[in-house]
This record gives sequence, C-alpha cells and structure tokens, in this order.
Amino acid sequence: MEIIIAKYSGFCSGVKIAVELVEKNISNNTVTFGPLVHNQSVTDYFKRKGVDYIESPEGINNKTVIVRSHGVSPEVISKLEAGENTVINGTCPFVTNVQRIAKNIIENNKQLIILGDKNHPEVIGINGWAKYKGIIINDLEELQGYQQDQDQDLKLDLSKPIGVVVQTTFNMEKFHTIISKLREQAMDIEVHNTICKATNERQSAVRDMAEKVDMVLVIGGKESSNTAKLTSICKSLDVVTYQIEEAKEIDPSWLNNIKSVGITAGASTPDWIIREVISMVNELNGQEEVKGEEQENAWETIQAAFENKTALTAK
Ligand code: SF4
Repeated sequence: MEIIIAKYSGFCSGVKIAVELVEKNISNNTVTFGPLVHNQSVTDYFKRKGVDYIESPEGINNKTVIVRSHGVSPEVISKLEAGENTVINGTCPFVTNVQRIAKNIIENNKQLIILGDKNHPEVIGINGWAKYKGIIINDLEELQGYQQDQDQDLKLDLSKPIGVVVQTTFNMEKFHTIISKLREQAMDIEVHNTICKATNERQSAVRDMAEKVDMVLVIGGKESSNTAKLTSICKSLDVVTYQIEEAKEIDPSWLNNIKSVGITAGASTPDWIIREVISMVNELNGQEEVKGEEQENAWETIQAAFENKTALTAK
C-alpha cells in the first residue's frame, strides 16, 4: 500500500510562533487566552507544564497572558492590562493584517463584510477591531438573509460602498462563490482576499493528493476550523475521508482493500502526531517505510519541546 503525505500539512508559521512564545514563558503564572491551538494533545501538554488557558479577561490579575494566533479584540487587551497582567501578543501577523484592514474599512465609513464563522475567535477578534460593525457571512444563504431579513441589527445596503475581508482559514472555493454573487449586485465593493498562504497551500495540496488516493486521513482537532475545511474538500472530491485527532482512532477495517492512503493535517496539528499516524498505518499494513512521500514541510523540525515526543505523549 502506498502512503502519500500532502505537500503542505501540520503546524503553520503562525502556530509555531505562538507555541514558541508559550515555550519561552513557561510558568505557573502564565496562561493563554483560549486554548493555544485547537488540538487537545497540545493543550494537555502545556497544562502539564503549568500553562492553563482562560476564556475571559474578567477577574484575571497579575498574570502573564499570551494572546494566541487567532488574536483578540482591543477591549480584551485593555481589560487584561487594567488587571495589571503582562500581555504577550502571539497574534499571527496574517490575522493582524485582517484586523487592520477591517478597522480601516469602518474608519472610511464603508460597510464591512467579514466572510467567516461568527463563532470563531479569529472572526470575533477581527470584528472587535471594527467596533463590532462587521456583517459576518459564512455562506450564500447568510448573504441573502442580510439582504432580506428586516430584523437584522446590521443591514447590508448594496447601493453603498462595501469592503470585504475574509477569515484566514476560509474555504477558497466558497470565497470565490460568495464574491462573484456580491460583485454581481454591489455598486461599489473592495475585496481583500485575506485567506492566508498556509491555508491556501494546505487546501490546494490536499486537492492534489486526494485525486491520487483511495482514502484520506485528515488529522486535526474537532474544533479546528482549517482541519474541518480540509475534510470537507476531500469529501467534496468523493474520496473516502476520515478525520481523526490521534492515531489510536484509526479503525483497521478502514484499510481493507485500500491501495493508497493520503494523509494531511490541519495547521494546529503537531508533527509528532502526523508521524504517529503514519507509523500506525504502516503497522496495520505490515510495512516499515512510507512510500510516495511528497511533502515539503511536514518533517520540518518544530521547536525544541516538540522534539521530545516522550514528554508530549506521557499522560
Ligand atoms: Fe496564521 Fe494562517 Fe496559521 Fe492562521 S492558519 S495562524 S493565519 S499562518
């Protein structure tokens, strides 16, 4: 059986920066704002080292608080600073760029559309920088809702200037579909495609890979937005797809009559979990070597802590 690893998978540059920041500030007085990444194993690892996470700035005082790659609103930063916390900003530079553009659109008195999931922390943070004036749209149905539903607090007026930004992990095809519809109807629209390079690379790499295999394993946290998108891309290509968080979730029967397996991983999946999954597939298949490997960055050395698999996997 052949195993093909997607050309781009696993930790992106933004997640690596945030992980390194936490590693440099390990202490029982350090917390992250929200789980550092949407991956339980990574969250558990840092918890064992004394770094827990908080969900709100309320009642947090005299701590070192690391803002994760998703970023937060300016109000959150102000509240944390008012509590005499030391705030370390781990917002991914790609996300900072979207926050800045969204803020400018509102300051220029244009309507702001944010393409993304209204419950995702990155989108909540971006909207905070835009004084919560963003119209958040995840699909064409929601776009129609904003045009038709008179009860919406914010209404979209297609005759007035509009600026669009996009959640960095948004699905590229969905982006093009919604933007085509908006361009047909809007009088004055500026579109900022802020889907990040890492998302772009992972989504196109998984398409290339999925065409060559009988089955795909997508590795990533259940809460991870970019992992979910990789899964939905594979399913849309009609290839048998399973999303897993860890190697032990693999059901050996999945490999029955399979000649080739594709493996990809979300941007919050550490390298060592990808390796464990490959080992498990090989073990179940009675092989020792990975064949057909074509990835460029999946074997990159991640920061020092992640080289120590024993520490990470110890329960
Ligand atoms: Fe940054 Fe993109 Fe990674 Fe998000 S997915 S942390 S925007 S590089």
